[in-house]
Amino acid sequence: MGTPLAGRTALVTGGARGIGAAIVRRLHADGAHVAITDVLEADGQALAAQLGERARFFAHDVTDDGAWRAVVEATLAAFGRLDVLVNNAGIYEAGTIEEADLAGVERQFRVNQFGTFLGMRHALAPMRAAGGGSIVNISSIAGQLGLAGSGAYVGTKWAVRGMTKTAAVEFAPDHIRVNSVHPGYIETPMLGGVDPEALKAGVEATPLKRIGKPEDIAAAVAYLAGPDASFVTGAELTVDGGWIL
Ligand code: NAP
Repeated sequence: MGTPLAGRTALVTGGARGIGAAIVRRLHADGAHVAITDVLEADGQALAAQLGERARFFAHDVTDDGAWRAVVEATLAAFGRLDVLVNNAGIYEAGTIEEADLAGVERQFRVNQFGTFLGMRHALAPMRAAGGGSIVNISSIAGQLGLAGSGAYVGTKWAVRGMTKTAAVEFAPDHIRVNSVHPGYIETPMLGGVDPEALKAGVEATPLKRIGKPEDIAAAVAYLAGPDASFVTGAELTVDGGWIL
């Protein structure tokens, strides 16, 4: 494997564990300097320490506009530029539209949707200054279909998909590409919140007959972040073993 991201800087939200941590490891292996941000401080610090010189951890709640300003400034102070943003932080809370806890509905709107909106807004100026960049927003197959019992989450993931296409058009004059990745079931702590029966049915409905690994998503992100995807913007890359075909 080469180092297509050598000399580049990436910021990955929710990077302390799960899919985010796999993305951090992959972009770092591809040569990037990586700013790992998360509300999970101990795990994030440990990952940065493990990766060494080209990695830093910054405590960061993606729902907080001021915190975004601070982490982008800290990233620029540490590494001098921002080329890649991965809006990965997300939460899932089950609940039907009739019965879902409303505080949980709002939490999902704020982390998954508003957090992604803020991330794109704050990445724009430093990427423009760097002469271009790549933003990858982690949506879900829940952003491509309807899923009973997940109304709020589905709404946020469709929103991520729509905002991605809008940003792709708005940011193109600055040579900033914006794409979304749509994972199926991926083996991370988030699956603890998914009904085991639904999980089993999902795997059975998946032509490749397995749950995905965080590294499957990291590979898709690395492609979209790097030079091989230089003519790809506004696209949605589904990584689900063929589940929603
Ligand atoms: P995960 O293991 O729960 O990791 C998500 C990370 O984001 C956690 O470290 C979490 O911290 C952090 N986070 C939560 N709220 C945050 C906030 N306000 N600010 C900053 N960080 C925050 O989940 P994952 O499975 O890796 O999911 C990563 C992304 O993939 C999410 O956007 C998710 O919707 C998407 N996705 C996952 C699957 C799947 O099957 N796993 C499928 C489709 C899409 P806490 O633990 O403290 O909340």
